[in-house]
Amino acid sequence: MPTLGQPHSTAATALITGAADGIGWATAQCLAQRGWRVALLDLRTEAAQARAAELGPQHLGLGCDVSDAGSVQVAVAAAQTALGRIDALVNNAGIGEQAAPTLTQTAEGFDRVLAVHLRGSFLMTQAVLGFMREQPRDARGNRGAIVNIGSIASFGGIPGRNAYSAAKAGVLGMTRALACEWAREGIRVNAVAPGYVRTALVAALAERGDVDARAVAERTPLGRMAEPEEIAEAIAFLASPAASYVTGATLSADGGWSVLG
Ligand code: NDP
Repeated sequence: MPTLGQPHSTAATALITGAADGIGWATAQCLAQRGWRVALLDLRTEAAQARAAELGPQHLGLGCDVSDAGSVQVAVAAAQTALGRIDALVNNAGIGEQAAPTLTQTAEGFDRVLAVHLRGSFLMTQAVLGFMREQPRDARGNRGAIVNIGSIASFGGIPGRNAYSAAKAGVLGMTRALACEWAREGIRVNAVAPGYVRTALVAALAERGDVDARAVAERTPLGRMAEPEEIAEAIAFLASPAASYVTGATLSADGGWSVLG
């Protein structure tokens, strides 16, 4: 197996943010099982390192606050040095937003949600593009792939969750703009838009009464929430050469939620 410090390893490499838990962790496992070397970035350094150790010595865990430009620069440079190249970036880190009437929401709370989802995806992308554009092209002319995470909130209204909806709609807009700008450089940019997924983020919303699991199951054509592994499969597809001609796309993985009239 390849080990860190072997920059000429032929294994594909990925950076995943928010990788200590939920969808990010499931994606790290999915890619690692397929032979990728993964840098797991998370706010909690120890948790990221423990997850990486769980996957094996060829993987890397790093502390990183995606909303902080300095933290992003340091983490991305460390990951690129260790992995040798960056084939894929998964901008997954996220926080929930407690539903609240607009008149009681604070500007600080609004800014924080946008800072993690939108600014974080922008900062990570900017940092990674600097390395990706220097990499050799593959047989189809591609150099790398970026996968952003939207949501059913990117399309539909969720009362009281203005910041989250704005951030997730913004992520899809940014995905399309980046896809157009970077296609000629061989860098594909796509998004996955999950429905409700059984993770800590949703458990916290359910605890506060913002999500009713039974109502979600009833509203979802497939009749249940997703497991994180099911979203990871969609992310892994867009990150991989199997999606070599896909850019600017949003893949809904929502059990049919968004097509139900
Ligand atoms: P989880 O809360 O399970 O995992 C998110 C991870 O991101 C946590 O480890 C969290 O750390 C980390 N994180 C939070 N803020 C930052 C930051 N500033 N920098 C780096 N890491 C950070 O969430 P999910 O797996 O449910 O969500 C992952 C993504 O999927 C998010 O973008 C979310 O909006 C999106 N999504 C989720 C859905 C769902 O139903 N679960 C539905 C649609 C989209 P910590 O625990 O310390 O906060």
